[in-house]
Amino acid sequence: MKISSLYKMEKTVLSFEVFPPKATSPIETVYNTLEQLCDLKPDFISVTYGAAGGAKSHCCEIASRIKNIHGIESVAHLTCISNTKNEIKNILNEFNDNGIENILALRGDIVPGQPRCTDFKFASDLTAFIKSSSRNFDVCGACYPEVHSESSDEVEDILNLKKKVDAGASSLITQLFFDNNAYYSFLKRAKIAGINVPISAGIMPVVNKKQIEKMVSMCGASLPAKFAKIMQRYGDNPEAMRDAGIAYAVDQIVDLISNGVDGIHIYTMNNPYVARTIYNSIKNLL
Ligand code: FAD
Repeated sequence: MKISSLYKMEKTVLSFEVFPPKATSPIETVYNTLEQLCDLKPDFISVTYGAAGGAKSHCCEIASRIKNIHGIESVAHLTCISNTKNEIKNILNEFNDNGIENILALRGDIVPGQPRCTDFKFASDLTAFIKSSSRNFDVCGACYPEVHSESSDEVEDILNLKKKVDAGASSLITQLFFDNNAYYSFLKRAKIAGINVPISAGIMPVVNKKQIEKMVSMCGASLPAKFAKIMQRYGDNPEAMRDAGIAYAVDQIVDLISNGVDGIHIYTMNNPYVARTIYNSIKNLL
């Protein structure tokens, strides 16, 4: 099933994100996590590609397992920063052979000192390439409520996002954010720019202090005062921090659903306990 059709149903689309284990770990180490997440029957699960050190080669296998063994729709992430057109063509064939119908098309981060391929400059180039292939993939794109770090301002950022949608992205998933007002302002800019595709809100339940420090430095999400207070009070108490992080995420999600969000995308960090606890709090609201 194409994920764009999920957004046409009269409900809030719920999705999870997982990452593959590192190349040095056996792929089986993620199987139990997948089983527990699939038991919650989300509308789809997306699988990262090379993010946070996860093996790129496992992405297809995991996305295939989610779909073909667990019966949950999957989305395979794909970055193009270091691939030639030919390499991407081969990956698309592999996705297609494994029954994968949905791709989150990304450029990937520029890492100083790491080789870059010039076949694709931006995610919009990859999106257009996938849409022009003979395979009938649904393409999703990434977007940034608090503006991508390389964009000079909100206007440039939203105009570039429009190019991605015009190239064929039929839905978008946001970078994580902790301040819903940043998301609502972004939605207004998207509307003004003529972006009319569904936009799922990316929510990361922060369950420990180290994780939040890493995330904020990696993606530049701003921390509202309310969240900073939680960190200050519970940062050194792992159980309390976990519960407070889950409660904060649930509070964000309730507000988003009440305001008619298209979808909620939970960055699960491969933690089924956290996903299940959040799911149980919001399942009747979707
Ligand atoms: P692009 O859309 O290409 O944007 C990159 C920059 O270029 C932006 O500043 C944009 O404004 C600008 N730009 C875009 N198009 C143009 C244009 N035509 N002309 C001029 N400027 C332009 N990384 C991974 O490695 N693996 C993953 O699995 C992964 N999953 C992710 C999932 C989500 C939901 C999100 C939000 C991010 C994910 N990332 C992942 C991180 C992502 O690769 C980085 O944020 C990367 O820096 C940008 O990727 P992009 O696809 O948004 O790039």
